[in-house]
Amino acid sequence: MEKTPLSDASKMELPTIVFATHNANKVEELRQMLEGYYRVQSLTDIGCHEPIVEDADTLAGNARIKARYVKDHYGLDCFADDTGLEVDALGGQPGVKTARYAGEDADSAANMNKLLKALQEVQADQRTARFRTSICLIQGEMEVLIEGVCEGKIAREQSGAAGFGYDPVFLPEGSNCTFAEMKPQDKHALSHRGRAVRKMVDDLLASFD
Ligand code: IMP
Repeated sequence: MEKTPLSDASKMELPTIVFATHNANKVEELRQMLEGYYRVQSLTDIGCHEPIVEDADTLAGNARIKARYVKDHYGLDCFADDTGLEVDALGGQPGVKTARYAGEDADSAANMNKLLKALQEVQADQRTARFRTSICLIQGEMEVLIEGVCEGKIAREQSGAAGFGYDPVFLPEGSNCTFAEMKPQDKHALSHRGRAVRKMVDDLLASFD
């Protein structure tokens, strides 16, 4: 990722890449990482407001559905991500259903409560889990799948107020703090999404060598 950005003159002609999400925070993070190389646009930026049905039974499958949709309907290079939490004591659940663990419209509080209840009788050494992020990147004819994994454990109770989703109950390996007790940059350095995104950025920037 240590590359020299393009000059101001050539910035006018930066290639466009779409991040297939409406989440402004995720888009801003990627804009910073690809500044000077790519113009990053969101689904909102390209006027894609129709729902994209993510009905695959794997994270990689759902990431591919979103990226493929943008490429096929808008003709633009793009990438999409999908994340799941795999809990060993639950046979790898909630996995692809992480966002909907406690029901279709469940919020993070309901999801975490259901998870903590399901693990009530599970001892510390059996509480292993991992976050997995799959990214599908499509550039021209090329399509690649990239993965980032963060191993850890599910805490006995919620701690911390930062982050989102299951952050208050996830203890990344080697840390006594949950993701929700960490500064954002410390979480990104360890997290599944941070790892996947850094691999993808390396792949994208390699095309400038
Ligand atoms: P998505 O694929 O990024 O929409 O994530 C699916 C679900 O996983 C979200 O609804 C969150 O509940 C959860 N999730 C994703 N990333 C994280 C994270 O970094 N920390 C905690 N929960 C996450």
